[in-house]
Amino acid sequence: MSDPRRAIPRTDAVLADPAVRPVAARVGRAHARRVVRETQERARAGGLAPEAVVDEVAARLAALAASATTLRPVINATGVVVHTNLGRAPLTPAAREAVVAAAGYVDVELDLARGARAARGRGTLAALREQVPGAGGALVLNNGAAALLLATTALAAGREVLVSRGEMVEIGDGFRLPALIESAGARLREVGTTNRTGLADYAEAVGPATAAILKVHPSNFRVEGFTSAAPVAALAGLGREHGIPLVVDIGSGLLRADPLLPEEPDAATALREGADVVTASGDKLLGGPQAGLVLGAAELVERLGRHPMARALRVDKLTLAALEATLRGPDPFVHSAIHVGADELEARTRVLAERLAGRGAPVEVVAAEGRVGGGGAPGVPLPGWALALPEGYAAPLRLGDPAVLARTEGGRCLVDLRCVPVEEEALLVEAILAAGC
Ligand SMILES: *Cc1c(COP(=O)(O)O)cnc(C)c1O
Repeated sequence: MSDPRRAIPRTDAVLADPAVRPVAARVGRAHARRVVRETQERARAGGLAPEAVVDEVAARLAALAASATTLRPVINATGVVVHTNLGRAPLTPAAREAVVAAAGYVDVELDLARGARAARGRGTLAALREQVPGAGGALVLNNGAAALLLATTALAAGREVLVSRGEMVEIGDGFRLPALIESAGARLREVGTTNRTGLADYAEAVGPATAAILKVHPSNFRVEGFTSAAPVAALAGLGREHGIPLVVDIGSGLLRADPLLPEEPDAATALREGADVVTASGDKLLGGPQAGLVLGAAELVERLGRHPMARALRVDKLTLAALEATLRGPDPFVHSAIHVGADELEARTRVLAERLAGRGAPVEVVAAEGRVGGGGAPGVPLPGWALALPEGYAAPLRLGDPAVLARTEGGRCLVDLRCVPVEEEALLVEAILAAGC
């Protein structure tokens, strides 16, 4: 009698099998060999027929390849557009393609025509300057916090930065801008009060130790009632008088004013009103990848770019590619999700409700407000509609495949279509039906 274990295929034969070879290439040779060895072991122990080894290896490698990252896609049914816990802005199709295209070798620091080294990310910086003609210079850093850190450190390390007491903000998860700025050596000098700070407060505080004036947009909260803040133009004037630069952290990254968000500052306006340096995030209202933008007077921005810290805060080629594609492409998803009309949302919601009700789901259509979220336009409600389901749907939706994050409110589970791309509606319907089982 022949030993059935002798029928177990050899490692090289398994790896060369047409069913295995393509998936093995995706997970890499070392992982593939380990999976083959483990599967052969099982067959030797009698737990698997020798002729099933190849199929088993192919299936395990395919599963490995599919779960190369533990990050799972989520359908955002919360109505919160810039959702920090969901990675803020989803990239545009063009930006996604640009990331894939930039994943290999690219000429990020090379001039192919001359065969010589070239300025890193020059295409992205040019796109930024085209979008904001008032900016003589531009830099792209890791995030908004990095942009602010570099600006205050390069301009004011060891000296003082004037900032309104009402703008000493915490940006989330326990991180506070004052602590961030002081961690790199600039000293903050608070002026004014929590609710009111005027130009005179800054003027009184300016002294020989003052190196810069900082204005921070309070992007994630609103102070209502008896409030005032010094406008950019007035602060710029004070700065010029004393020969010190004005840094404006606009936070959300609007490059131009958006009539729907009248209280949201934008880079073009801040520069026109006299800001010397503007800092912002790339993945809030700009709708691009995580990044920090520095825009401003050419020689100041150049000085920031030469500071040693700039090297530690710089972005990779994937971010540069995604940002350029966002800037040069059509309106990003964040923009359309904020601007979509309530009527359009209602129509989409009613169509889905009918499909769901037709298949037995206990669904209603209700008016519901969305939010910009993510530290932008805190007081601005976005009128819209939602599917209302029993609260018990929320957990199974979250745990489903695809995962769906809804909003629970007033004992109900609200599914808001504002941030759900039309092409994901069919998936969403199936996910809701599965959650009801
Ligand atoms: C969001 C925000 C930051 C931080 O930007 P990140 O991109 O999250 O690092 C800084 N300042 C303001 C005013 C913000 O709104």
